[in-house]
Amino acid sequence: MSRSVMVIYVIYKCVKGNDQGAKGVFGGGPKVTYVPPTLPDDEDSIFSHYESGINFDKYDDIMVDVSGTNPPQAIMTFDEAALCESLRKNVNKSGYVKPTPVQKHGIPIISAGRDLMACAQTGSGKTAAFLLPILQQLMADGVAASSFSELQEPEAIIVAPTRELINQIYLEARKFAYGTCVRPVVVYGGVSTGHQIRDILRGCNVLCGTPGRLLDMIGRGKVGLSKLQYLVLDEADRMLDMGFEPDMRRLVGFPEMPSKENRQTLMFSATYPEDIQRMAADFLKTDYLFLAVGVVGGACSDVEQTFIQVTKFSKREQLLDFLRTTGTERTMVFVETKRQADFIATYLCQEKVLTTSIHGDREQREREQALADFRSGKCPVLVATSVAARGLDIQDVQHVVNFDLPNNIDDYVHRIGRTGRCGNIGKAVSFYDPEADGQLARSLVTILSKAQQEVPSWLEESAFSGPGATGFNPSRKGFASTDSRKGGSFQDNDTRSQPAAQTADDDEEWE
Ligand code: AMP
Repeated sequence: MSRSVMVIYVIYKCVKGNDQGAKGVFGGGPKVTYVPPTLPDDEDSIFSHYESGINFDKYDDIMVDVSGTNPPQAIMTFDEAALCESLRKNVNKSGYVKPTPVQKHGIPIISAGRDLMACAQTGSGKTAAFLLPILQQLMADGVAASSFSELQEPEAIIVAPTRELINQIYLEARKFAYGTCVRPVVVYGGVSTGHQIRDILRGCNVLCGTPGRLLDMIGRGKVGLSKLQYLVLDEADRMLDMGFEPDMRRLVGFPEMPSKENRQTLMFSATYPEDIQRMAADFLKTDYLFLAVGVVGGACSDVEQTFIQVTKFSKREQLLDFLRTTGTERTMVFVETKRQADFIATYLCQEKVLTTSIHGDREQREREQALADFRSGKCPVLVATSVAARGLDIQDVQHVVNFDLPNNIDDYVHRIGRTGRCGNIGKAVSFYDPEADGQLARSLVTILSKAQQEVPSWLEESAFSGPGATGFNPSRKGFASTDSRKGGSFQDNDTRSQPAAQTADDDEEWE
């Protein structure tokens, strides 16, 4: 192989991974045959976790607001959650010493059988807040995974917008259910359907799924809904925006689906635009509780946010300069399009920065490999589209770079929330191109102020003199300070400038 061909091949491998998937290099072949590697099932792997950070105790200072009638008393310790022995052991083995605020309030609300819309900042323990009380109730009811059956009827369904996120939630469910009779299963796109059907048929109490594949499994008659007690929407605002709302309506519209009066519906996110809150009420009992930990839609206070003014043409070099200073520290670089993700990842590889990438045009095998290489530190730089913006909990992500700013503020909040998790400190650097990003300026100023961070004077100027100053998009009313039922306490009507569904590089990206 000549040297130049070799270089191109190495760069291609670096960016694309070792794909032998159906689409592959030459396209075509729609049948998905990918079967993810078998998960290690030893205790050390199942319970491996990273340490909470120095600001973990500061979570207790965050203001909490529960609205709705008769909210149950918050718990202060996991002991007060009255978890059964196996769950308690699993919580201990996970390294959880005390509950975070969303857990202190969310666990008793769910255990009391109430519907819940919960909002808490990124990385503050929302997953355990819904998993623990659900698993506790299933254990108390004596639920056991049924043996092989052509139809499985789970007691709980959890939906999330991306494949990697739902897989992560499944791993958390598997961890907390370890050693119990409760069997979680995961289904998502990009993986062999036959493989997932076989997994479901072996028994399924808690089904975690992305919407498309979940609906497919129900449609094929492999999953029945008649025993369903819990429906959980993680990243609920995303699940109910224009992209996924029809799927969610289809899900609750199945004839077998228990009505909202006869099931418990739980919604979790870090962002809740006011219009989405109102629509979410369609899925919830009228007496649902709204739990707000901190500012609804606010950025994680443990992330230091910095902005650099750039021009379109200077960004690439500035990124490289930045990455030269971070060395092997784990860094996520967000871009707006799949093409840009490939382009930037290739460029960085050429410059000998160990980089991988994740976006909706990559095979599932490649996406999982990219995430694994990033998690392990083999590739300390991950170039990603917004497909990786929500929920992913990766140890030691020290920097988030917004190479391209997203065009809606919720995505910004979620993206920078990939760092600064569980009380650890993180840093976010955003390249701000006045020509392209003016419409976001005002929202950014609000987000920075609410997180008690310094607002650069040039950004403030841009916010109040640029196009964003007048550009109010009525399609998305801004972010509520709290429960929308309290009567439209809007703060910034232009803060959520565009529906997220229009900003993802396409819908397939999300499922
Ligand atoms: P989440 O926001 O659910 O993705 O959780 C963020 C990270 O915090 C995950 O790594 C969790 O395992 C961890 N975590 C959640 N709750 C606790 C807790 N009470 N104590 C220690 N770590 C926690």
